[in-house]
Amino acid sequence: MKVGVLGYQGGVYEHVYMLRRSFDRLGVHGEAVVVKKPEDLKGLDGIIIPGGESTTIGILAKRLGVLEPLRELILNGLPAMGTCAGAIILAGKVRDRVVGEKSQPLLGVMRIEVVRNFFGRQRESFEADLEIDGLQGRFRGVFIRSPAIMGAESPARIISWLTYNGQNVGVAAVQGPLLATSFHPELTGDTRLHELWLRLIKR
Ligand code: GLN
Repeated sequence: MKVGVLGYQGGVYEHVYMLRRSFDRLGVHGEAVVVKKPEDLKGLDGIIIPGGESTTIGILAKRLGVLEPLRELILNGLPAMGTCAGAIILAGKVRDRVVGEKSQPLLGVMRIEVVRNFFGRQRESFEADLEIDGLQGRFRGVFIRSPAIMGAESPARIISWLTYNGQNVGVAAVQGPLLATSFHPELTGDTRLHELWLRLIKR
């Protein structure tokens, strides 16, 4: 199994590390590769879009000719996982808490609506114990300038919710082999969510 991590900016090597540990734990022969150029997309069984800054990641993916072929591949069934900024890149509809509708290069392959920076700025970062459909026990969610998932249309489905300032918002969603999280599972050392996604791929 060969899984790519989109490698322009953000938590790239954290995901590479989590993938390697997840392969070991699942007992699969896996390879984690960093994707920067269109050629790097060849032969992938899945791709992770890390957290960071979604505008930067999107602009670079577009400029380097990766955005369009990657969208085609995902529309044709390539599994993808997007964390934080990565979830924004996957989303079909994006707003920003601060500036409203914003035009930025996106893949737009998941039927979810997200609001960027929903939980505030860097200094308002926080952690929360989450319940996630398909995982036993709680999962520590690390939220850093994270988006909220405000809605999902079938076949997308929200699999984790968080009550924030009295409002119930989605913080993880799936759509077939696509997984989006508002938070950063790569920063916890807990590989269960990566394993959950890799199991979706293996099927
Ligand atoms: N706020 C960032 C964005 O809008 C995402 C932050 C993150 O990935 N930690 O792209």
